Amino acid sequence: MENVKASEAQRIIGECIKPLGVESVSLEQSLGRVLAEQLTANRDLPPFAVSAMDGFAVRAVDVGTAPKTLEIIEEINAGEMPRLAVQAGQCARIMTGAPMPRGADAVIKVEDTEAVEEGRVRIGVTADAGNFVRPRGESMHLGDVVLTAGTPIFPGVVGVLATVKARRFSVYRRPTVAILSTGDELEGLDEPVDPTKIPDSNTYAVMAQVQSLGIEPVMLGIARDDPVALEALLKHGLECDVLLVSGGSSEGARDLVRPCVEKLGVQIKFWRVATRPGHPFAFGQREATYFFGLPGYPVSSMVCCEQFVLPALRRLMGQTRVYRRTVKARLAQPFRAHPGRTEFVRVVLSQEALEFVATPTGSQSSMVLLSMARAEGFMIVPADCKGLAAGDYVTVQLLDGAVLQESMGFNE
Ligand code: AMP
Ligand code: MG
Repeated sequence: MENVKASEAQRIIGECIKPLGVESVSLEQSLGRVLAEQLTANRDLPPFAVSAMDGFAVRAVDVGTAPKTLEIIEEINAGEMPRLAVQAGQCARIMTGAPMPRGADAVIKVEDTEAVEEGRVRIGVTADAGNFVRPRGESMHLGDVVLTAGTPIFPGVVGVLATVKARRFSVYRRPTVAILSTGDELEGLDEPVDPTKIPDSNTYAVMAQVQSLGIEPVMLGIARDDPVALEALLKHGLECDVLLVSGGSSEGARDLVRPCVEKLGVQIKFWRVATRPGHPFAFGQREATYFFGLPGYPVSSMVCCEQFVLPALRRLMGQTRVYRRTVKARLAQPFRAHPGRTEFVRVVLSQEALEFVATPTGSQSSMVLLSMARAEGFMIVPADCKGLAAGDYVTVQLLDGAVLQESMGFNE
């Protein structure tokens, strides 16, 4: 299969790629990884019923006829155990998180009480049993499954892991990823400016995309359009789990990537995908190593990396939800589509009333990388779309920057 649709490319890659093996990490190093084991609660939490407020632990029956004055028998702070049981007509002063004394079944918060004489308090409100009491095991019960294998580790998960005292645990391994740019016209970052050359941006843009998943890539640099030099670098790159090569994958006489990787034993699954930008985007496999041929043009390279490579890397790292979230938006201006290809249009998002508005980030040329530098999302234009009018509803895939906005948006 040579030319595939975007959805076929997604399916073929998804079928080939399986999560890597597992390794053990410390809690401190686990953010962004994916759990490879199930974790259970090692205790009841809280270990006993506790007060949810600073106030007075009472018997609900006693305050059924509030206001009511009760005798204070002791003070219970968080971290202390009650010594006395609350009997009829009695209460205990209690602090947030302190254990409920025997006999009491409700807490009246301090704001609803009034000090009277020494040792007595006037309760101003009634309460049902359980009022402001956190029952034993509210957070978790001993033996509960709290986290399952396949859970991506976000900050909330780190908190739960610490709660169950998971100092080390098993996660899916991160892939090793090699990055190689190709082309005689490329000028390396440290080379002096030569007006006849093209600065190599793909190496670094793709590096950053890979780093966004917490992977530190192996940087192979620039291969010139020479089969011997290229082959040596490709050979090195194929020792990693994933090899990303940009450029050199079109039909030109200097496009040597395909013959070279095939010679090295890579089995090509497809060589072109019907996307815009994109097109010369290739995928292949050699045993446990995956090869991705990214287009040379900087925008095309980043779009294909975002759409196909990053989901593959997430899958290798054990994630099951590997694609970016999409939202519905209204298009700000008409858009001339290119039927036959799935298009990824770089857009910025604004909000009007309750809707997102998507505005393309200027030139959509695959050479104009500034369109990516400004983008908050990709508007996905289906291959069968003949064109879009201003105000049409479109689907926008959110990129990282899109999560930030100026105000918190509380409607208060
Ligand atoms: P190619 O696919 O090798 O024919 O590359 C197509 C075009 O993409 C080249 O003419 C360059 O303008 C551009 N290009 C290729 N590689 C890079 C790179 N690493 N960084 C920036 N632009 C590149
Ligand atoms: Mg080239």
